[in-house]
Amino acid sequence: MTQAVFFDVDFTLIYPGPTLQGEGYEFFCARRGVTVDPAMFRAAVAKAAPVLDEVKAHNYDAQVFIDYTRTIIEQMGGRGPATELAATDIYEEWAACHHFFLYDDAEPVLRALAAAGLRIGLISNTQRPLDEFASHFALDGLISASVSSAQFGYLKPHPSIFEAALASIGVPAGESVMVGDSVTHDIEGARQIGMRAVLLRRAGAGLTSPLQRSLGAGYEDVPVIASLSELPALLLANPESRTPLAAPESDTSGPGGGGNPESRPS
Ligand SMILES: [Mg+2]
Repeated sequence: MTQAVFFDVDFTLIYPGPTLQGEGYEFFCARRGVTVDPAMFRAAVAKAAPVLDEVKAHNYDAQVFIDYTRTIIEQMGGRGPATELAATDIYEEWAACHHFFLYDDAEPVLRALAAAGLRIGLISNTQRPLDEFASHFALDGLISASVSSAQFGYLKPHPSIFEAALASIGVPAGESVMVGDSVTHDIEGARQIGMRAVLLRRAGAGLTSPLQRSLGAGYEDVPVIASLSELPALLLANPESRTPLAAPESDTSGPGGGGNPESRPS
């Protein structure tokens, strides 16, 4: 039976506000004497994605994220050695909870799952201190454990970060579920140690094609949801069951599908 649900944080529970999007990049770059075009932000994020996707090492390295941010700045037209300084400034701002907003569906779902007796954990690849997360977003008492890559030392999908989260709650992998927006980091990371997984593809996240409710062959047991609001029915409908989660029926009428246009993929 499901005893614990672990959540990815960025783009699953929270999203960055304007400070960490085009106009924020313009502001932080201007402070360093770098000129960028904020209108190019979304395209720049897409072009910079390989900087993170091609990293094979799973140890946390701040420079990787600074390189990624600098690439976004360069794709927005920024030039010169000060781009590194601006990228470092923005990377450091990424650690502050006050730049982020909680998705509307997050709090009611966390409360519903906790009220049903499930333990809730956070597993994040960012450097943001997660001990501030619950109090900042008024979720006190709901989060039983959290593991942040910068503090732990390894990134998702390294198995050790999932194992550390499970150990801190004291729940076996087979009785836990990971919910996140990254197939590589959240879904594959969790499944490799025997956790079940649910992929979140948020409607309205700049997704243009119909929502794909299946990840295809080999992922039949990974439900794809468009909102966290789908979780209680998915996880609590048959709480005594130890069988894998069933994927919802294919639904091509949904509002979105495809990649995440925002900065940071996980
Ligand atoms: Mg994420």
